[in-house]
Amino acid sequence: MGEAIDIKSLIRTIPDYPKAGILFRDITSLIEHPAGFRESIKQLAAPYRDKGFTHVAGIEARGFIFGAGLAIELEAGFIPIRKSGKLPGETIGQNYALEYGVDTIEVHADAVGPNDHVLLIDDLIATGGTAIAAVNLLRRTGAKVTDAAFVIDLPEIGGAEKLRAHDIEVKCLVSFEGH
Ligand code: AMP
Repeated sequence: MGEAIDIKSLIRTIPDYPKAGILFRDITSLIEHPAGFRESIKQLAAPYRDKGFTHVAGIEARGFIFGAGLAIELEAGFIPIRKSGKLPGETIGQNYALEYGVDTIEVHADAVGPNDHVLLIDDLIATGGTAIAAVNLLRRTGAKVTDAAFVIDLPEIGGAEKLRAHDIEVKCLVSFEGH
């Protein structure tokens, strides 16, 4: 057995990115670490093994990195949730509010349906706005959506609690104080 890997210590913080006052929690330092990346996928997958998830849905773009590994671990398919205009087939879209303005995420209309159980994944949950929009979007396909996983929680912002209020069980590997 190797040394225990401390995932939190492998996530670096870049102050004032993308704008002043933000502490950007950067997962590139985690995923470039071979044992750290592998361990994060193992820990993400552990609660969901043999639970019947047919698909993992990852939110563009960092949710794709963890989502792909998680889908392989769970022997599930992978569904990309993308920014508008990126998917080539027929899509359904969901708007959500940003600090200034609104954004849209999309999924292929035929990607999942009523016979599917989808696990949502992203690198980080802050306000929860993106994840709640993704849950609403996936539920509109008829798929069952009960769980969401994140590498990082920022509990002071409260997004995970908001997501739980939408009947989603939320699990995060690490949490950071502050915004
Ligand atoms: P939210 O919709 O507010 O929960 O924001 C979540 C999305 O924004 C995720 O896809 C994150 O990758 C990104 N994000 C928000 N805040 C941060 C932060 N402090 N550091 C890194 N990524 C962030």
